[in-house]
Amino acid sequence: MKRGSARDHMPSKEEFEKLLKACELTDHPLLYRFIVLMTGIIGMRIGEVGHIKETWVDFVREIINIPSHEPCNCDYCRNTLKKTRKKRTGKKKKNTKTFEEELKEYWKPKTPAGVRSIPFGFNREVKEVLQEVITRYEGCPWSPKQIERRFRYLRDLAGMPHIHAHALRAYAATNFAYAGINAATLQTIMGWDDIETAVKYIRRSGALAEKEFERVFGKKKDSLSKFASKRIFYLTDLGKKLMNRKIRKDDEEWLRCLLNRLHERYLRQNSSVKISAADFKIYQLLTNKNMYQSQIAKKLGIRHDEVGDRIKILKSLGIIEPINPDSIPKFYKATRIVPVVLD
Ligand SMILES: [Zn+2]
Repeated sequence: MKRGSARDHMPSKEEFEKLLKACELTDHPLLYRFIVLMTGIIGMRIGEVGHIKETWVDFVREIINIPSHEPCNCDYCRNTLKKTRKKRTGKKKKNTKTFEEELKEYWKPKTPAGVRSIPFGFNREVKEVLQEVITRYEGCPWSPKQIERRFRYLRDLAGMPHIHAHALRAYAATNFAYAGINAATLQTIMGWDDIETAVKYIRRSGALAEKEFERVFGKKKDSLSKFASKRIFYLTDLGKKLMNRKIRKDDEEWLRCLLNRLHERYLRQNSSVKISAADFKIYQLLTNKNMYQSQIAKKLGIRHDEVGDRIKILKSLGIIEPINPDSIPKFYKATRIVPVVLD
């Protein structure tokens, strides 16, 4: 991730709470709260928040549907369209419609991936504030330009001039990743063009989880390594399902079939990787017995790094993710799967 990106200026949990508190000191607590929650909890772009209409919100299914376009004549839309038309001219492409004609189809999401559905029912505050704003105003009464200005006022009021409005979206994405939302879903909810951004957030949330471990188990490397060493993994959704499954009579066979299926699906490009009988034994020891890598090596009478190699496959199958991404290539130390429960 580039320096100076949204994630670097992201508020901490305390700062976010401070922002929300500061809303009460403004001339319009409801709308300020609305801005902070819509960007910081459900991760909408400011351009999107500024264009919310009653028709976007499905209160029964608790979903916001961002449409492919929405007629609008605000200063933000006029400026964006001006820039788009200028870009076209720069690329020697024709502007087939007149400005006013094209404005009838504006607003548009930033990219086609911006057309999406965002669930909001998981947060009571978002539900309440959204309901109230839509009931009172039938949409957001502030344009994106006004939102940006209002936000600058709010963050200064809260005494945090370093926080930018767009960093709230990064805050939401980080919390989604932290809560264990998978890359594909995160990409969809956030409306990103590529999955790479989602993967980066998930990796970084792993680093945050590691910090949380340090906080809980103490900063001393000793106490942490006694518990799990640096190479702590968290289970993906799939990993959790595997971990919590009822053990069947034919469990070994069942697990072998499942892993083979996953293997075919995820590693079709890499046909040289094959899952052997010893592999699924390792997976079993990891997932069922919660054993350290060194213990597994001893039990199976294989080399330490061989266990590490198989764990790498476990990762590429999407069953586990290491908390510290830097440790991916090496697995010489004890490895343990720890289901990380994140609040
Ligand atoms: Zn507009």
